[in-house]
Amino acid sequence: MTADCDLQASLLVYAVPARTALTPEQNAGARCVWCGAPVPPGAGRDLGGHGGWSPHGCPACYEVQGAWLRTYLEWADHIRVCATCRAGCWCATSADFQGCLTESAHRADRPPVVCARCEREVEAAERFEPRIRAGGRPQRIGYVHAAVCPGDERRWPCP
Ligand SMILES: [Zn+2]
Ligand SMILES: [Zn+2]
Ligand SMILES: [Zn+2]
Repeated sequence: MTADCDLQASLLVYAVPARTALTPEQNAGARCVWCGAPVPPGAGRDLGGHGGWSPHGCPACYEVQGAWLRTYLEWADHIRVCATCRAGCWCATSADFQGCLTESAHRADRPPVVCARCEREVEAAERFEPRIRAGGRPQRIGYVHAAVCPGDERRWPCP
């Protein structure tokens, strides 16, 4: 599997709106699933639908959505292996990821970051981290406050 196939599959799982949220033309691949622009045959990016569903993205949207999702998934991978982050603390790498994620999510016009634990929108000065959730697309993309969540009594002993 090439990296582009991986990204295509990830976009389908995490970033393509549900079929029911799209127009018939978007479901047929004639319009971009993100911006709704017409996608001429052969000009768009196939997002790998099946069973008569053929979602496509225009090249510009594919690029910004891909950049955002790549950052999100790389950050989630980092959290899984970083002892500091796993302890509920915060490392410099996560600080960098938060900056990149915020910027790329803005370009991709993603919804605001909401903490799954306290259900509040994360403010600009607060730290957060990705938390992939079980369940239907595209709600799998989740976030929680990092280190200290205002809705959580626990405070981790961070250095
Ligand atoms: Zn588009
Ligand atoms: Zn870390
Ligand atoms: Zn929170």
